[in-house]
Amino acid sequence: MIGAYIHIPYCRTLCPYCDFCSVDIPGAVPSAYVQAVCQEILTFRHSRAVATIFFGGGTPSLVEEAGLRRIVDALRHKFRIAEDCEITIEANPDDVTAALVEGWKRVGINRVSLGVQSFDDATLRYLGRRHDAATAVRACGLVADTFDNWGMDLIFGAQPVDAWPETLEQCIAVQPKHVSAYGLTYEPETPFAARSHDAVDDETWLGLYRQAAARLAEYDHYEISNYAMAGYHCRHNLIYWRNQEYAGFGAAAYSFIDSVRARNPADIERYTAHPGLKEESICLTDREIRVETLIQHFRLREGIEKAAFARRFGCEIRPEFAAALDGLIERGLLWEDEERIAPTARGFELNNEIGLAIVG
Ligand code: SF4
Repeated sequence: MIGAYIHIPYCRTLCPYCDFCSVDIPGAVPSAYVQAVCQEILTFRHSRAVATIFFGGGTPSLVEEAGLRRIVDALRHKFRIAEDCEITIEANPDDVTAALVEGWKRVGINRVSLGVQSFDDATLRYLGRRHDAATAVRACGLVADTFDNWGMDLIFGAQPVDAWPETLEQCIAVQPKHVSAYGLTYEPETPFAARSHDAVDDETWLGLYRQAAARLAEYDHYEISNYAMAGYHCRHNLIYWRNQEYAGFGAAAYSFIDSVRARNPADIERYTAHPGLKEESICLTDREIRVETLIQHFRLREGIEKAAFARRFGCEIRPEFAAALDGLIERGLLWEDEERIAPTARGFELNNEIGLAIVG
């Protein structure tokens, strides 16, 4: 079973902190792009069963219902789709209307992820978002009326920094089933690169991260930045974090199948002219896959089950990684018992250091 990812590289306006592959358009997503995605799906070389479908972006809520239906139909035509397939759409609060939400339901979407980012108007202006806090609250209500399985993305560390507790309070008040809380980064080659002097220091960052973990205590903090109520973990993202196979369709989308990581062209015109063309394909060695598997699993509270690793790779985690693991356990970043090795709370906070040690 694989996850299928569909990238929609269009937004109404571009947020100045964002380095995702996207361009701004005034209207709906062009049908030529939808057509290219369908063609890429229908000519995909591998046959697999699909456990999850994820429309990400960019802004998938700019795709009209007919376009979503064409893509889902193409997936159903090409792949065996699991009966309980999780089908997620990412949406911008500004786009959400009762009619749009009902259309998603008709298409078979069963999970919605809202790009709320903040419930504070000053923070939303700082981030250059289209919506305000009242629009975000309204969008949450409309989505929650139709979908049981819905969640939101939030950003901490933006200015004003002290608005974060209020955003967390408002989040709790609308009761999403899933919350992703990411620290703001000032990425090179974005307009925000010039504002990196606004970035919070490490201590403040950690304080904001811990505020989220404490306020969202009723959720399962199952990944460094992700929280879910019981039964509402994002199954699609778990495929990435468990380093399992996925197929990405659309501009700039990645696939990982049969040990090959492949990337589609990021240039939309080039992608649309040659759907299925790979810009880059790298066959990973077994060692590289084992390293990535450990690093990804150590983003998860569950860590890695030793027996599952041995079944997948035909070898034990130790002795290959013994030195790195022992060092990380000694530093209090990982813990180990008979069954598994997993990150501690400190290992969540200093997760980069786990990755660096495993790479060696
Ligand atoms: S709406 Fe999302 S994908 Fe589009 S520019 Fe803003 S943050 Fe990036």
